[in-house]
Amino acid sequence: MNDKAVTWETWRRAGRPTGVHAVSLADVRAAQKRIAGHAVRTPLKPAPALTERLGVPTLLKMETMQPTGAFKVRGAANRLLALDPASRARGVITASTGNHGVAVAYLARQLGIRCVVSLSSLVPPDKVAAIAALDAELDVGGADQDAAMQRAKERAAREGLILVSPFDDPWVIAGQGTIGAEILEDLPQVATIVMPLSGGGLAGGIAVAAKAINPSVRIVAVGSARCPAMLRSLQAGHPVRVTEQPSLTDSLGGGIDLENRYSFTLVQDLVDDVELADEVEIIEALRFAFFRLRLVLEGAAATPIAALLRRSPGGVAGPVVAVVTGDNVDTVALCHILAGERPIWGFG
Ligand SMILES: *Cc1c(COP(=O)(O)O)cnc(C)c1O
Repeated sequence: MNDKAVTWETWRRAGRPTGVHAVSLADVRAAQKRIAGHAVRTPLKPAPALTERLGVPTLLKMETMQPTGAFKVRGAANRLLALDPASRARGVITASTGNHGVAVAYLARQLGIRCVVSLSSLVPPDKVAAIAALDAELDVGGADQDAAMQRAKERAAREGLILVSPFDDPWVIAGQGTIGAEILEDLPQVATIVMPLSGGGLAGGIAVAAKAINPSVRIVAVGSARCPAMLRSLQAGHPVRVTEQPSLTDSLGGGIDLENRYSFTLVQDLVDDVELADEVEIIEALRFAFFRLRLVLEGAAATPIAALLRRSPGGVAGPVVAVVTGDNVDTVALCHILAGERPIWGFG
């Protein structure tokens, strides 16, 4: 049953963390104060079905409870609330696979800031509609997230808008890091934290906060095999480009930015293991989440569960916390998956 245990691809951190980073625990503590009232301080929910399987206490960090259905509101709130009045008056622009765009648009509307969101044609229609409903100006087109980001950078330079990166920004990273600080407050004895991985703002932020509080916490970040930009970059030792393929993990699409300044080195220095989950494992994890944990998740949020499901009992140090990052899923596609049919996109 556990023969997959020897075959999954992983990158493992070599050497000790340097501990010198653009984002510190103090930045995360400041973010906790700044975003209170804008992002929910989410609970840890026990997951008996995973506890039983893994043989160690396993809990879920419930980011699906955020007002936008995903954790990205933390980083967006920290970034926008920290802008000075002159920057707020200029307005913000971002490129997004969906959830970050929704989060920036949500905060911009609350704060009365002009907001432009650049989206590729891979972003699911319901996420495009959600951003439009928040009064953001949309700029849709281009083959992938990297093209959308390129357009956003050009417009930011041309129109004087403030660019809000989905992952490579110290305020955004500190905002996502509040998840790590909260986990350590609620469960100081946590041994392993598992989260999804794309650009690494989430994993980098959680790792900074968690390791500053307890250096022995193991950080496991799980990317999508359909878009393994961070894993390939770690293997190469510098940011590299990968071709983005359609996937159930639409929120994990896009590269890590060839000019990456913050999130890559944080992941390289502080994340212990990086793994990939493939489409079949993500389907299994979405089904497990729904039928055994009674949770509706989007594909991206299922990668930590996929990584836990392939471990044998005793194969992970506990207590374990899996960060369930979002539930912005195409519900019709999810119904197909739950009914045991092939999903209508991203698989095959
Ligand atoms: C953005 C996102 C991630 C990945 O976060 P990164 O900071 O890009 O690594 C994971 N899950 C969901 C639901 C997301 O929206």
